[in-house]
Amino acid sequence: MTAEEFLPDRLSMRDLERAAQDCKGCRLHANATQTVFGEGLKRSLIMLVGEQPGDREDIDGRPFVGPAGRLLDRGLKEAGITRNDVYLTNIVKHFKHERVGKRRIHKKPNADEIMACRPWLDAEMSVVGPEVLVLLGATVAKALLGPAFKVTQMRGRSIASDFAPNVTATVHPSSILRARDGDTRAREFGRFVDDLHFAAELMS
Ligand code: SF4
Repeated sequence: MTAEEFLPDRLSMRDLERAAQDCKGCRLHANATQTVFGEGLKRSLIMLVGEQPGDREDIDGRPFVGPAGRLLDRGLKEAGITRNDVYLTNIVKHFKHERVGKRRIHKKPNADEIMACRPWLDAEMSVVGPEVLVLLGATVAKALLGPAFKVTQMRGRSIASDFAPNVTATVHPSSILRARDGDTRAREFGRFVDDLHFAAELMS
């Protein structure tokens, strides 16, 4: 099963968002609080795609509102992009995790789950029609651009793709939060801002 059979007849963002709340296209809905659909300008020049909602996003029902989202907001601001001007979403719409004591620890979605959820992302891309598509992290970049794609080597540059006139990739902000020390974190954040700045230039 995939999300395909849960898609609404009319591909408007409002109908998509409503229909996605009832999606049972894979087993991830069973352990999550709710579907976390994309949000932002419905016809945006720039669309950013992350991996999946985290603990905070699962509770709030909104993408990128936890620690990684706050870092993304900072990065966007430093790159001259305001969050209100972008459309933000994830390639998987339910929070995959495992419980360790009272904590819910993120688990990477597998290829079947990503494939099952893909119809939602395709529908979002078709409604938003972004000029620039920014892929955040290796999971998303490999899913859309092929398993050989290496974010570490190809970040911050234009990638030929049919998904949008301009496609680029960078790391997921959560990877910056996991950096081993403050210096590394500051350096990686600077590189992240550079990549977002490149994406902003592609819009003009
Ligand atoms: S992760 Fe995607 S395909 Fe799976 S149940 Fe959630 S919305 Fe549906």
